[in-house]
Amino acid sequence: EKVFLNGTIYSSNDAHISVFDRGFLFGDGIYEVMVQLGNGIFYKKAHLDRLQENLDKINIPYDVSHLEAQINPLLDSYNLGDKTCLIYMQVTRGVAPRKHAYPKDVPATVMMYALPFSLPHINTKNMQVILQPDFRWHRCDIKSISLLGNIMTNEAAMTQNADEAVLVRDGIITEGSHTNIFFIKDEKVYTHPANEHILDGITRKIVLELCRDLEITVMEKAIPADKISSMDEAFLTGTTTQIASISKLGEHVFHTSGAIGPITLKLQEAFAKLKGLDSST
Ligand code: PMP
Repeated sequence: EKVFLNGTIYSSNDAHISVFDRGFLFGDGIYEVMVQLGNGIFYKKAHLDRLQENLDKINIPYDVSHLEAQINPLLDSYNLGDKTCLIYMQVTRGVAPRKHAYPKDVPATVMMYALPFSLPHINTKNMQVILQPDFRWHRCDIKSISLLGNIMTNEAAMTQNADEAVLVRDGIITEGSHTNIFFIKDEKVYTHPANEHILDGITRKIVLELCRDLEITVMEKAIPADKISSMDEAFLTGTTTQIASISKLGEHVFHTSGAIGPITLKLQEAFAKLKGLDSST
């Protein structure tokens, strides 16, 4: 298994990071996940732009174009043939004596690896989702590698045999532990606005565009948890989740059978078509 680290492609056993790396000590870094399909990396530019924007938000001085140039050499080293893969990238503030303040003139630690990974044409899973309090911080817009709030709530879902945890802050549904959430009511689509309480998912943005293309009314308006039972459909979005129908959210059952709501299905089909197009630029 090969890993790209600070300019070199290593066998993963030979890739080493200092214990004084600020990613290790403070979770001081940004990550990104994207998928390579048969015709290129799906929404590559959107993912790389988001990585750069997030690094800029926390003043890690790193130019993502350097990492972009290493993607193909890394993928070539895997001999994947025409297999599709998932690409993980992480940039931390680098190695420095442990002090909270940002160190000066320290190069970022840059790491990337890929894994064979295939996306189903449509995600036919119908998700069982629990509700959890959103006890994360107020900068959920930052794609931070510090993910304790996300992993703790996801773990609660796993221990309850659910597929995902959806988070509630001050009575309002924000997002999932690693997904965004959408609702449908009277043929209108709703999702939380892209502010500091959610991560602005690339898949979320794609779904907003698809709604506009399909002339489905879409509103970036958050849904209170006590209105879930009045919604007609709900779905999750994410790079690896794609668009996944929700069958149960908290106590509310949307579909008892394997049924998928009509608007969710329409969006799933439109999303599947996009994957056939080259979206990498
Ligand atoms: N919200 C959170 C908290 C996430 O971790 C993710 C996945 N990284 C998403 C939403 C979905 O984002 P994307 O569609 O870009 O994968």
